[in-house]
Amino acid sequence: MPQKEYLMIPGPTPVPPMVMNAMSQPMFGHRSPEFAEIHKNIIEKLKLVFQTQNDVFVLSSSGTGGMEAAVANIINPGEKVLVLVGGKFGERWSELSYNYGAQVIQQDFTWGEPVDINVVKKELANNPDIKAVFATFNETSTGVFNDIEKLGKAVSNTNALLILDGISGAGGIEIKTDEWNVDILVTGSQKAFMLPPGLAMISVSSKAWEKIKNKKSPCYYFDLLKTRKSMEKYNTAYTPAVSLFLGLNASLDLIIEEGVNNVFQRHIQLRNATRAAIDAMGLKLMTENYCASPVITSIYAPKNIGADDLRKVLKQQYNISFAGGQAQLKNKIFRIAHMGFADKMDVITAISGLEMALNNLNSPVELGSGLKAAQEVFLGRHK
Ligand SMILES: *Cc1c(COP(=O)(O)O)cnc(C)c1O
Repeated sequence: MPQKEYLMIPGPTPVPPMVMNAMSQPMFGHRSPEFAEIHKNIIEKLKLVFQTQNDVFVLSSSGTGGMEAAVANIINPGEKVLVLVGGKFGERWSELSYNYGAQVIQQDFTWGEPVDINVVKKELANNPDIKAVFATFNETSTGVFNDIEKLGKAVSNTNALLILDGISGAGGIEIKTDEWNVDILVTGSQKAFMLPPGLAMISVSSKAWEKIKNKKSPCYYFDLLKTRKSMEKYNTAYTPAVSLFLGLNASLDLIIEEGVNNVFQRHIQLRNATRAAIDAMGLKLMTENYCASPVITSIYAPKNIGADDLRKVLKQQYNISFAGGQAQLKNKIFRIAHMGFADKMDVITAISGLEMALNNLNSPVELGSGLKAAQEVFLGRHK
């Protein structure tokens, strides 16, 4: 039989058949009224998901392109920025800012723990010339999500902008862009949005536009002023990824049909079931409950087994793909994504495969122990 893949990594994630279907339509011109109509629909639906009245744009690039757009349009050489780093993706903001000549204050937090708001407040008080604070909504490398409401409150009292990497969070975890004072939100298509890679969706506040007006950094493809100009006619400055736009339109329909709030609740339940199962199996979770990501769970491999050996068995024997650890977490943790087009039975598959793989590796995990805990969460019987 052809290999049936169980893709449980934090991007690319599985794509629903309806979205695949939408993307296989014949090509049409991106300067046509048809495209403008679809583009308009997409923007309206994205505003709903992001809970924003700010300008929203869809860029044809992976998520990192959206991050670069934010940095290139906001940061002028020599300006001071604060970057909050609690994992691999936080580091990306630092690297980008350095590359655009910023004076970077990198504030590190223990990997696996969220941003400490008091530390941020202190940095902002000590450095009133900070122009922007770069943060990560859902730190995919550790499975932590940060309290953006608190962070937004702290930053909104200053002249600094809050620029948020929401690439793996948005679409799966509730984000109140306006209420939480997020000036630029960056997201991507291949995570909770259930699409192939290739799009970055971003929002830009009026506070951010004030800064962008005076931008001095060189940028061309990602020039947001040009992007905004084209948007007046629901156009794009350059040829967009037309098929992916069609896919985005369809995936947003699925999200809205399910109910944005139901989507968020679904992810929380998938997280709760996964964590209950891991706990019941006697494995160690990397994160505490209060900051545990609804879309990805990080787990330490048992002491005598490398996380990558475990992943290899899962892939070879069961065709299940989990993500590994990055940087200092390599071979120490594995990560199960329950993100986007994921439901109860995906968690059941993941846990069942994990129990079998651990037994293949002679690790004493009782078959069914994790499964039972997950099933109890789904049946509402978990205390
Ligand atoms: C996946 C991811 C990125 C990188 O996005 P690309 O689409 O690979 O460029 C950035 N930040 C976070 C939090 C991510 O999960």
